[in-house]
Amino acid sequence: MRVAVVGAGFAGLAAAIDLARGGAAVTLLERAPEVGGKAGEWRAGGFRFDVGPSVFTLPDVVEAIFRDAGRERPFGLEPLSPICRYVFPSGRVWDVHRELEPTLAGLDADEQRAYLRALGAARRLYEDAAPTFVRGPAPGLLRLAAYGVRAGWRAQPGRTLPGLLASLGVRGDLLPFFLRFATYFGGDPYRAPAVLHNIAWVELGLGVSLPVGGVHGVVRALRELAEELGVEVRTGAEVERLSERAGRVRGVALADGELEVDAVVAAVDRRWALRLLGRPAPARRFPSLSGTVALLGVRGETPALAPHNVFFPPDYAREFDDLRAGRHPSDPTLYLHASSKGDPADAPAGHENWFVMANAPALPPGDDRGAPGRLPGRRDAAREAADAAAARRLRSTLAARGLDPAGRIVVERDLGPADLARMGDRGAIYGPMPQGLLSTLRPGPTIRGVANVWLAGGTVHPGGGIPLALLSGRYAAADLLHRLAR
Ligand SMILES: Cc1cc2nc3c(=O)[nH]c(=O)nc-3n(C[C@H](O)[C@H](O)[C@H](O)COP(=O)(O)OP(=O)(O)OC[C@H]3O[C@@H](n4cnc5c(N)ncnc54)[C@H](O)[C@@H]3O)c2cc1C
Repeated sequence: MRVAVVGAGFAGLAAAIDLARGGAAVTLLERAPEVGGKAGEWRAGGFRFDVGPSVFTLPDVVEAIFRDAGRERPFGLEPLSPICRYVFPSGRVWDVHRELEPTLAGLDADEQRAYLRALGAARRLYEDAAPTFVRGPAPGLLRLAAYGVRAGWRAQPGRTLPGLLASLGVRGDLLPFFLRFATYFGGDPYRAPAVLHNIAWVELGLGVSLPVGGVHGVVRALRELAEELGVEVRTGAEVERLSERAGRVRGVALADGELEVDAVVAAVDRRWALRLLGRPAPARRFPSLSGTVALLGVRGETPALAPHNVFFPPDYAREFDDLRAGRHPSDPTLYLHASSKGDPADAPAGHENWFVMANAPALPPGDDRGAPGRLPGRRDAAREAADAAAARRLRSTLAARGLDPAGRIVVERDLGPADLARMGDRGAIYGPMPQGLLSTLRPGPTIRGVANVWLAGGTVHPGGGIPLALLSGRYAAADLLHRLAR
């Protein structure tokens, strides 16, 4: 059986590995010069940067891919402590650990009680939801109904995340802290449903790991495993069309010809997969958040930084007022990751590699500049100027938080929504924005009327983020092998 996997992000790599293990002849087609998708890498001047994700959660997911292939995981995964350092507008610094004692030590008695209540609620939500919405293929009506009866009411379907946090007595500095986890699913915390509070448990309760060799090192290890299992990896290979006849895709059109296939896994943004099939794919009304990223190789060491740091602005709500209006935040929350703090090989001695990120609005509807298939793309000069200004604002906000990089920068590179639009529709990192309970559900891996195409990636079940994208690839491969065997 010849299977083409389109897109070599985490989802495509995981699907290719499982399909090859299942006996398929797999060609993995990636349009970029390197595999990894959003989890790219940039090296310059002796620095190494992960260009995309850096918070590595649920390590058992990647572990299982190697174990199921009869291999040892070839990279180290160090539990991270503190998980993250939070800096509030008052100047207060709080280190959050997986262990409760040092975490609570940074809080007053009222805050400690609120933290424990909120952590307990996040744990219940996660443990209720994970078996149906994470640890298994896309649920059908029966499984959804069973979840509804068993636990649905505890997810407080009518409540928003701020409503839930208020009922738990979360306020002050703890409020933006707990709200922010909704952005891990691309959500606007003030519009997100209460159930997204479960994400807090994944980070705070289950912990974060630092992969030795970086997140892109994990990508490299997955590629090596895929090749060992016989997957043909073709980079610089953009799929322009999936040629469908009588409800089946027979060929995958590339610039240099057509590849005959028996089945396809499209591990790209779901909207792009529909377009490759020539199906209608209306623009998303509410795309998830995008990002402005600065990669800064800086001279000198900054003892005040941990590997992961978050700097909150004085008015967290205003950030999302701006984003809802399609504007870059005027005073954004900054996330700063310095992997060289955990892995000194990532920067020359006496230097640090800063990955700095702020939330950004996705590109406007109709701006298809990154979509595959040579779509025309409508450029917007005003928007481009706004994106460039946001990159400058990242640096001035760093300076306002006491981390002025001016005069210390050895290498630098900026990425904005237009760059991320090469990897996901309009640069939205997580597809559609979760605004209500139902919008947290992602579509399943199949498309009505097409018998031999499966979808994977962050815009289908179970959703975005490294572990979920990996799982989506595995679920697609398992379903494909199961159905074709039948
Ligand atoms: C800046 C940033 C920070 C993030 N931070 C975190 C984090 O800390 N923790 C976390 O867990 N997640 C994080 N994420 C999200 C995480 O990176 C993604 O959810 C995950 O990597 C998505 O993997 P994927 O396989 O679904 O898609 P992608 O990585 O987008 O892969 C899709 C691939 O398909 C290719 N492609 C598209 N069209 C075609 C075509 N026509 N032909 C061939 N190839 C094609 C693309 O080039 C791309 O390589 C972050 C993302 C970004 C951008």
